Amino acid sequence: MARVLFLGGLGRSGTTLVERLLGELPAVRALGEVVHLWQRDIRNDERCGCGARFSACTFWKRVGEQAFGGWHRVDVQRVHALRDAVERTRHIPRLARPSAEVLEYAGYYTRVYRAAAEVSGAGVVVDSSKHSALAHVLRWADDIDLRVVHVVRDARGVAYSWTKTVTRPETDGADEMTRYSPGRSALLWNAHNAAFDLLARRGVPVHRVRYEQFLADPRAALRELASYAGIPVGDDDLGFLGDGHADLRVGHSAAGNPMRFTVGRLPLRRDDAWTVALPRGQRRLVGAVCAPMLRAYGYPLNPLSQEARMNQEAP
Ligand SMILES: [Zn+2]
Repeated sequence: MARVLFLGGLGRSGTTLVERLLGELPAVRALGEVVHLWQRDIRNDERCGCGARFSACTFWKRVGEQAFGGWHRVDVQRVHALRDAVERTRHIPRLARPSAEVLEYAGYYTRVYRAAAEVSGAGVVVDSSKHSALAHVLRWADDIDLRVVHVVRDARGVAYSWTKTVTRPETDGADEMTRYSPGRSALLWNAHNAAFDLLARRGVPVHRVRYEQFLADPRAALRELASYAGIPVGDDDLGFLGDGHADLRVGHSAAGNPMRFTVGRLPLRRDDAWTVALPRGQRRLVGAVCAPMLRAYGYPLNPLSQEARMNQEAP
Protein backbone atom coordinates (compact mmCIF):
# COMPACT_ATOMS: atom_id res chain seq x y z
CA MET A 1 0.00 0.00 0.00
CA ALA A 2 1.49 3.34 -1.04
CA ARG A 3 1.50 6.07 1.56
CA VAL A 4 0.51 9.36 -0.05
CA LEU A 5 1.00 12.79 1.43
CA PHE A 6 -1.42 15.04 -0.46
CA LEU A 7 -0.60 18.77 -0.20
CA GLY A 8 -3.81 20.77 -0.41
CA GLY A 9 -4.79 24.40 -0.30
CA LEU A 10 -5.46 27.29 -2.62
CA GLY A 11 -2.63 28.03 -5.06
CA ARG A 12 0.02 30.56 -3.91
CA SER A 13 -0.25 29.31 -0.35
CA GLY A 14 3.24 27.82 -0.28
CA THR A 15 2.55 24.20 -1.21
CA THR A 16 5.50 24.03 -3.63
CA LEU A 17 7.90 25.24 -0.95
CA VAL A 18 6.58 22.64 1.50
CA GLU A 19 6.85 19.99 -1.22
CA ARG A 20 10.45 20.90 -2.07
CA LEU A 21 11.56 20.68 1.56
CA LEU A 22 9.67 17.42 2.14
CA GLY A 23 11.32 16.01 -0.99
CA GLU A 24 14.73 16.39 0.66
CA LEU A 25 13.82 13.98 3.45
CA PRO A 26 14.97 10.37 3.13
CA ALA A 27 12.19 7.96 2.18
CA VAL A 28 10.17 10.74 0.50
CA ARG A 29 9.65 11.19 -3.25
CA ALA A 30 7.95 14.42 -4.32
CA LEU A 31 5.94 14.00 -7.53
CA GLY A 32 4.69 17.55 -8.14
CA GLU A 33 1.09 18.31 -9.10
CA VAL A 34 -0.02 14.94 -10.42
CA VAL A 35 -3.38 16.46 -11.44
CA HIS A 36 -1.56 18.20 -14.33
CA LEU A 37 0.51 15.19 -15.38
CA TRP A 38 -2.07 13.93 -17.88
CA GLN A 39 -2.20 17.04 -20.04
CA ARG A 40 1.08 18.84 -19.42
CA ASP A 41 3.37 15.82 -19.35
CA ILE A 42 1.82 12.87 -21.16
CA ARG A 43 0.32 15.03 -23.91
CA ASN A 44 2.49 18.18 -24.03
CA ASP A 45 5.76 16.61 -22.89
CA GLU A 46 6.65 19.59 -20.65
CA ARG A 47 9.76 19.60 -18.49
CA CYS A 48 10.26 17.54 -15.35
CA GLY A 49 11.84 19.26 -12.33
CA CYS A 50 15.12 17.57 -13.34
CA GLY A 51 15.11 19.68 -16.52
CA ALA A 52 14.52 16.84 -18.96
CA ARG A 53 11.40 16.55 -21.08
CA PHE A 54 8.90 14.28 -19.37
CA SER A 55 9.38 11.55 -21.98
CA ALA A 56 13.16 11.69 -21.49
CA CYS A 57 13.16 11.57 -17.67
CA THR A 58 14.30 8.12 -16.57
CA PHE A 59 12.32 8.18 -13.35
CA TRP A 60 8.99 9.00 -14.99
CA LYS A 61 9.65 6.63 -17.85
CA ARG A 62 9.97 3.78 -15.41
CA VAL A 63 6.89 4.91 -13.48
CA GLY A 64 4.85 4.93 -16.71
CA GLU A 65 6.01 1.45 -17.63
CA GLN A 66 5.28 0.11 -14.18
CA ALA A 67 1.88 1.79 -13.85
CA PHE A 68 0.39 1.44 -17.32
CA GLY A 69 2.88 -0.47 -19.49
CA GLY A 70 4.01 2.90 -20.89
CA TRP A 71 2.45 6.38 -20.84
CA HIS A 72 1.22 5.96 -24.41
CA ARG A 73 -1.30 3.46 -23.09
CA VAL A 74 -3.04 6.05 -20.87
CA ASP A 75 -6.31 7.26 -22.37
CA VAL A 76 -5.84 10.94 -21.48
CA GLN A 77 -9.20 11.84 -22.99
CA ARG A 78 -10.88 9.40 -20.62
CA VAL A 79 -8.97 10.85 -17.63
CA HIS A 80 -10.15 14.34 -18.62
CA ALA A 81 -13.74 13.19 -19.07
CA LEU A 82 -13.66 11.61 -15.61
CA ARG A 83 -12.09 14.73 -14.12
CA ASP A 84 -14.79 16.93 -15.60
CA ALA A 85 -17.45 14.58 -14.27
CA VAL A 86 -16.22 14.27 -10.69
CA GLU A 87 -13.36 16.61 -9.78
CA ARG A 88 -15.07 19.96 -9.35
CA THR A 89 -15.39 22.01 -6.18
CA ARG A 90 -19.16 22.16 -6.71
CA HIS A 91 -19.28 18.34 -6.75
CA ILE A 92 -17.76 18.00 -3.28
CA PRO A 93 -21.13 17.44 -1.53
CA ARG A 94 -21.74 14.51 -3.89
CA LEU A 95 -18.31 13.05 -3.11
CA ALA A 96 -19.61 11.95 0.29
CA ARG A 97 -20.26 8.68 -1.60
CA PRO A 98 -18.13 7.05 -4.29
CA SER A 99 -19.56 6.49 -7.77
CA ALA A 100 -18.08 4.18 -10.42
CA GLU A 101 -16.55 7.24 -12.09
CA VAL A 102 -14.96 8.40 -8.85
CA LEU A 103 -13.38 4.99 -8.34
CA GLU A 104 -12.15 4.82 -11.93
CA TYR A 105 -10.66 8.33 -11.75
CA ALA A 106 -9.00 7.62 -8.39
CA GLY A 107 -7.59 4.43 -9.90
CA TYR A 108 -5.41 6.38 -12.33
CA TYR A 109 -3.79 8.24 -9.43
CA THR A 110 -3.36 5.09 -7.36
CA ARG A 111 -1.42 3.46 -10.19
CA VAL A 112 0.91 6.46 -10.46
CA TYR A 113 1.48 6.61 -6.69
CA ARG A 114 2.17 2.89 -6.34
CA ALA A 115 4.53 2.79 -9.29
CA ALA A 116 6.36 5.94 -8.09
CA ALA A 117 6.78 4.42 -4.62
CA GLU A 118 8.07 1.19 -6.09
CA VAL A 119 10.44 2.76 -8.65
CA SER A 120 11.90 5.25 -6.14
CA GLY A 121 11.89 2.90 -3.18
CA ALA A 122 10.39 5.74 -1.12
CA GLY A 123 8.07 4.99 1.76
CA VAL A 124 6.04 8.14 1.09
CA VAL A 125 5.14 9.89 -2.16
CA VAL A 126 4.02 13.52 -2.14
CA ASP A 127 1.34 14.82 -4.52
CA SER A 128 1.07 18.61 -4.34
CA SER A 129 -2.00 18.82 -6.61
CA LYS A 130 -3.67 21.20 -4.11
CA HIS A 131 -7.23 20.75 -5.44
CA SER A 132 -9.70 20.07 -2.64
CA ALA A 133 -12.08 18.15 -4.92
CA LEU A 134 -9.27 15.76 -5.86
CA ALA A 135 -8.55 15.09 -2.19
CA HIS A 136 -12.25 14.25 -1.73
CA VAL A 137 -11.97 11.82 -4.69
CA LEU A 138 -8.76 10.20 -3.43
CA ARG A 139 -10.29 9.36 -0.09
CA TRP A 140 -12.12 6.58 -1.97
CA ALA A 141 -8.96 5.21 -3.63
CA ASP A 142 -8.19 1.59 -2.81
CA ASP A 143 -4.78 0.59 -1.59
CA ILE A 144 -3.41 3.98 -0.65
CA ASP A 145 -2.77 5.36 2.79
CA LEU A 146 -3.92 8.94 2.21
CA ARG A 147 -2.74 11.67 4.57
CA VAL A 148 -3.63 15.24 3.69
CA VAL A 149 -1.53 18.28 4.55
CA HIS A 150 -3.68 21.41 4.39
CA VAL A 151 -1.44 24.41 3.72
CA VAL A 152 -3.02 27.73 4.71
CA ARG A 153 -1.63 31.19 4.10
CA ASP A 154 -3.07 34.59 5.05
CA ALA A 155 -5.79 35.29 2.44
CA ARG A 156 -4.38 38.77 1.78
CA GLY A 157 -0.94 37.39 0.97
CA VAL A 158 -2.55 34.84 -1.35
CA ALA A 159 -4.67 37.53 -3.02
CA TYR A 160 -1.66 39.76 -3.60
CA SER A 161 0.28 36.88 -5.13
CA TRP A 162 -2.58 36.14 -7.55
CA THR A 163 -2.41 39.71 -8.90
CA LYS A 164 1.20 39.26 -10.03
CA THR A 165 2.35 37.99 -13.42
CA VAL A 166 4.42 34.82 -13.43
CA THR A 167 5.64 33.09 -16.58
CA ARG A 168 5.82 29.32 -16.82
CA PRO A 169 9.43 28.38 -17.67
CA GLU A 170 8.45 24.83 -18.63
CA THR A 171 6.79 26.21 -21.76
CA ASP A 172 9.84 28.37 -22.52
CA GLY A 173 7.98 31.62 -21.75
CA ALA A 174 5.07 30.96 -24.09
CA ASP A 175 2.52 30.82 -21.32
CA GLU A 176 1.74 32.84 -18.18
CA MET A 177 0.22 31.54 -15.00
CA THR A 178 -3.39 32.48 -14.27
CA ARG A 179 -4.18 35.75 -12.46
CA TYR A 180 -7.18 36.48 -10.23
CA SER A 181 -8.63 39.72 -8.89
CA PRO A 182 -8.43 40.00 -5.06
CA GLY A 183 -12.23 39.64 -4.78
CA ARG A 184 -12.14 36.44 -6.78
CA SER A 185 -9.23 34.93 -4.87
CA ALA A 186 -10.92 35.79 -1.56
CA LEU A 187 -13.94 33.70 -2.55
CA LEU A 188 -11.71 30.87 -3.77
CA TRP A 189 -9.72 31.03 -0.52
CA ASN A 190 -12.90 30.52 1.51
CA ALA A 191 -14.19 27.71 -0.70
CA HIS A 192 -10.98 25.71 -0.90
CA ASN A 193 -10.07 25.99 2.75
CA ALA A 194 -13.62 25.11 3.82
CA ALA A 195 -13.40 22.03 1.60
CA PHE A 196 -10.35 20.77 3.53
CA ASP A 197 -12.07 21.42 6.84
CA LEU A 198 -14.98 19.34 5.52
CA LEU A 199 -12.59 16.56 4.46
CA ALA A 200 -11.34 16.37 8.04
CA ARG A 201 -14.92 16.21 9.33
CA ARG A 202 -15.52 13.33 6.90
CA GLY A 203 -12.85 11.35 8.72
CA VAL A 204 -9.79 11.77 6.48
CA PRO A 205 -6.50 12.54 8.29
CA VAL A 206 -5.86 16.24 7.67
CA HIS A 207 -2.92 18.08 9.20
CA ARG A 208 -3.03 21.88 8.92
CA VAL A 209 0.16 23.86 8.31
CA ARG A 210 0.28 27.63 8.32
CA TYR A 211 2.72 28.89 5.69
CA GLU A 212 3.87 31.71 7.98
CA GLN A 213 4.58 29.33 10.85
CA PHE A 214 6.28 26.85 8.54
CA LEU A 215 8.75 29.54 7.48
CA ALA A 216 9.23 30.82 11.00
CA ASP A 217 10.74 27.45 11.98
CA PRO A 218 11.11 25.11 8.99
CA ARG A 219 13.09 22.60 11.00
CA ALA A 220 10.36 22.11 13.60
CA ALA A 221 7.64 22.20 10.94
CA LEU A 222 9.36 19.49 8.89
CA ARG A 223 9.86 17.30 11.93
CA GLU A 224 6.16 17.59 12.67
CA LEU A 225 5.22 16.73 9.07
CA ALA A 226 7.61 13.79 9.01
CA SER A 227 6.08 12.46 12.18
CA TYR A 228 2.58 12.88 10.67
CA ALA A 229 3.78 10.97 7.59
CA GLY A 230 5.31 8.27 9.76
CA ILE A 231 8.91 8.86 8.60
CA PRO A 232 11.72 8.78 11.14
CA VAL A 233 13.90 11.88 10.75
CA GLY A 234 17.22 12.49 12.48
CA ASP A 235 19.31 15.67 12.80
CA ASP A 236 21.51 14.63 9.86
CA ASP A 237 18.46 14.30 7.64
CA LEU A 238 17.75 18.00 8.15
CA GLY A 239 21.30 19.05 7.29
CA PHE A 240 20.05 20.66 4.06
CA LEU A 241 18.40 23.36 6.17
CA GLY A 242 20.65 26.31 6.91
CA ASP A 243 20.06 29.63 8.64
CA GLY A 244 17.37 31.20 6.45
CA HIS A 245 17.92 28.92 3.47
CA ALA A 246 17.69 25.35 2.19
CA ASP A 247 20.08 23.56 -0.16
CA LEU A 248 18.03 21.63 -2.67
CA ARG A 249 19.00 18.71 -4.87
CA VAL A 250 17.53 17.93 -8.27
CA GLY A 251 13.93 16.74 -8.00
CA HIS A 252 11.48 15.05 -10.37
CA SER A 253 8.39 17.16 -9.80
CA ALA A 254 6.28 16.57 -12.91
CA ALA A 255 4.25 19.80 -12.88
CA GLY A 256 3.54 22.88 -10.80
CA ASN A 257 5.08 26.14 -9.63
CA PRO A 258 8.39 27.20 -11.29
CA MET A 259 10.12 26.73 -7.91
CA ARG A 260 10.19 23.01 -8.74
CA PHE A 261 13.19 23.74 -11.00
CA THR A 262 15.27 25.35 -8.22
CA VAL A 263 18.49 23.50 -7.46
CA GLY A 264 20.97 24.71 -4.85
CA ARG A 265 20.30 27.51 -2.40
CA LEU A 266 16.69 28.51 -1.82
CA PRO A 267 16.12 31.45 0.58
CA LEU A 268 13.50 30.68 3.22
CA ARG A 269 11.98 34.06 3.82
CA ARG A 270 8.39 34.92 4.60
CA ASP A 271 6.95 36.96 1.75
CA ASP A 272 5.00 39.72 3.51
CA ALA A 273 5.08 42.16 0.57
CA TRP A 274 1.28 42.28 0.57
CA THR A 275 1.19 44.23 3.85
CA VAL A 276 2.47 47.26 1.96
CA ALA A 277 1.93 46.41 -1.73
CA LEU A 278 -1.73 45.32 -1.69
CA PRO A 279 -3.85 48.51 -1.89
CA ARG A 280 -5.75 49.29 1.31
CA GLY A 281 -9.19 48.88 -0.30
CA GLN A 282 -8.37 45.45 -1.64
CA ARG A 283 -6.78 44.42 1.63
CA ARG A 284 -9.97 45.39 3.47
CA LEU A 285 -12.17 43.63 0.93
CA VAL A 286 -10.25 40.35 1.22
CA GLY A 287 -10.06 40.72 5.02
CA ALA A 288 -13.84 41.20 5.23
CA VAL A 289 -14.75 38.34 2.87
CA CYS A 290 -12.39 35.92 4.63
CA ALA A 291 -12.80 37.22 8.20
CA PRO A 292 -14.46 34.16 9.82
CA MET A 293 -11.86 31.70 8.58
CA LEU A 294 -8.90 34.05 9.00
CA ARG A 295 -9.95 34.29 12.64
CA ALA A 296 -10.42 30.52 12.92
CA TYR A 297 -6.90 29.92 11.59
CA GLY A 298 -5.43 32.48 13.99
CA TYR A 299 -4.62 35.36 11.63
CA PRO A 300 -4.85 38.97 12.87
CA LEU A 301 -7.71 40.72 11.06
CA ASN A 302 -5.98 44.07 11.19
CA PRO A 303 -2.53 43.83 9.67
CA LEU A 304 -1.83 47.50 10.43
CA SER A 305 0.16 46.57 13.48
CA GLN A 306 2.35 44.38 11.27
CA GLU A 307 2.65 47.14 8.72
CA ALA A 308 3.64 49.63 11.41
CA ARG A 309 6.28 47.23 12.66
CA MET A 310 7.70 46.81 9.17
CA ASN A 311 7.83 50.56 8.64
CA GLN A 312 9.67 51.00 11.91
CA GLU A 313 12.22 48.41 10.88
CA ALA A 314 12.84 50.08 7.51
CA PRO A 315 15.90 52.40 7.48
ZN1 LIG B 1 12.87 14.00 -14.00
